[in-house]
Amino acid sequence: MRILDPHIHMSSRTTADYEAMYGAGVRAVVEPAFWLGQPRTSVDSFIDYFDALVGWEPFRASQFGIRHFCTIGLNPKEAGDPRLTGVLDIMPRYLEKDGVVAVGELGYDSMTPQEDHAFAAQLALAVAHELPALVHTPHRDKLAGTRRTLDVVRESGIAPGMVVVDHLNEVTVPEVVDSGCWMGFSIYPDTKMDPTRMVAVLRDIGLDRVLVNSAADWGRSDPLTTRRTGEAMLAAGFDDDAVDRILWRNPMEFYGQSGRLDLDPTRQADAAAPAEFAGNSIMRGARA
Ligand SMILES: [Zn+2]
Repeated sequence: MRILDPHIHMSSRTTADYEAMYGAGVRAVVEPAFWLGQPRTSVDSFIDYFDALVGWEPFRASQFGIRHFCTIGLNPKEAGDPRLTGVLDIMPRYLEKDGVVAVGELGYDSMTPQEDHAFAAQLALAVAHELPALVHTPHRDKLAGTRRTLDVVRESGIAPGMVVVDHLNEVTVPEVVDSGCWMGFSIYPDTKMDPTRMVAVLRDIGLDRVLVNSAADWGRSDPLTTRRTGEAMLAAGFDDDAVDRILWRNPMEFYGQSGRLDLDPTRQADAAAPAEFAGNSIMRGARA
C-alpha cells in the first residue's frame, strides 16, 4: 500500500512517527501551514515557521524515506488577529518555492469579518500563483460554516477543481459533492471521522475527488489512520486499485495541479541537503 498523506502536521510529530509511517507505506506527505497551539504574536514568527516548512521539515522527512511538501497560508485560528494581517504580504515569496504545493490551510474558524478578508485574499493568491487551495471547514457550527465556505469559494472565481474542502463528515459532504471541489476527510483515532465511517462514505459517494488524511497534530491523533482506512476499505470489499486511488493517485492528482509534486528520488537528495543542516547532530543515527 503506497500512501501520500495529503494533510498532516509533521512539525508536531516525532521521528518514531516518521519510522512508523514509512513502515505503513507512507512515501510522501503534505504539511499544511497551521497554528502552533498557542497564538503567535507577530509576523516574524510566521517567517520562521514557513522557513521550517520549506527547509528543515523536508530534510527531516527525507531521513526516513518520505517526501515532504507543504502548503503556505494564514490559518483560520489566527486569521482574525490584527497583529498578523501582514502574513498575507509575506506569503507571495513562499508561494514561489518548489516544495509549496497549495495555499492553505485557510478558511473560517469563527466566521468574523477579519476572517472573511483573509479567506478571500488567500483564494486570490491561489488564483494569482496558479496553485490549489486547501480550505478548512470550521469544527463548530459545521454545516452553516461549510455552506458559507462554498459561497466564498464560488465568489472568488477559483476553479472548483483547484479547491479541497477539508474536514468533512456525513453531514457536510452532501453540500460539497456537487460543487466540483475536492472533498477532504480527516480520520481520527476516536473522534469525528473514523475508518469505518469513512468506508461508508466512500460506498455512498464513490472515489472521485476524495482525499483521506490523518490531520495528525499536537492533539490526540494518529499518523497511521490513512493506512487503517485502506485496510478498512479492503475488509469491506474495495480492491487494491480503489485503495491506491484514494491513498495515492487522488492526492497526487490534486496537488499535482501545482506542477511541483515531484517525487523523483534523485531530486529529493538535492532538495533535502541544505548546507545549513549538514552535520546536524540530532539527525545522526537516524535512518541512513
Ligand atoms: Zn490541519
